Amino acid sequence: MTPPRFAARPEVFDYLLDAARRLLAEREARYPAMIEAGKLAVADATRKLELARCLVAQWRWAADPARATLGEWREPGHFNAWAHELAAEIADAATRARALADRDPTPLRREVADMYEALAWWQQPVSPGRARIVAHADFTAGVRDPGARRLIPVLHATPQNAAGAPPRPVATCPECRSPVTPGKLFCSTEHRTAWNNRQTVRGRVLTSLAIVMRVTRNGTRGDRATGKQATHEFNTLVSRWIDEDARAGRQPWPEYQARRYRLGFDPL
Ligand SMILES: [Zn+2]
Repeated sequence: MTPPRFAARPEVFDYLLDAARRLLAEREARYPAMIEAGKLAVADATRKLELARCLVAQWRWAADPARATLGEWREPGHFNAWAHELAAEIADAATRARALADRDPTPLRREVADMYEALAWWQQPVSPGRARIVAHADFTAGVRDPGARRLIPVLHATPQNAAGAPPRPVATCPECRSPVTPGKLFCSTEHRTAWNNRQTVRGRVLTSLAIVMRVTRNGTRGDRATGKQATHEFNTLVSRWIDEDARAGRQPWPEYQARRYRLGFDPL
């Protein structure tokens, strides 16, 4: 069998992690209404959400270059799901995504179907209780993967390589990193507000420091003492907030800014 597009390519594990997150986010968004309408039993919804969380946990581990090996297998499996159950679940999600993309072939639906098929391919058990992805990522844990690294430039440099065009990353919310609707920056009003409130509080402190830095050329012209102090405080606060944001799992700032520019942000 020919592997699906995006399968068998460790260099796109980040995208597959995004795809797993998308699957979880879709379920979280859709299930309440389906339960309400009597189309899905609460117990089934609960189990399917659990399995999607297991999938995200597994891909978070697999996509992490610093991942540890898994150690001894215990029931029901390293990520709290039976290998065959998770495999069947993802295969089913991929079949549905493909049917949806065939009925209404938008680029996004086709890409999601391609990615879910790749997830399903990686999830197939290669030995009892062990998915292909688990075997692969466990075997390569702690090993720098020169093969995969070498493939990255190929993937991005050639628009039409054997496996097709380079995948676009799934856009995620800067605050929680869950997938967002195309054209939207945040997943929800709450997260936009949380992000903007934090930005406002920080900006109030940074504005005068930044202007003093510019006027004194970082404390080398005019009132040097004040300029040096403002420069030091500015750099200290910014470093502190970069660390704080990274610990909270927020989007790195250059990525956030690049997305704002793409969405038309122009402060001038
Ligand atoms: Zn969010």
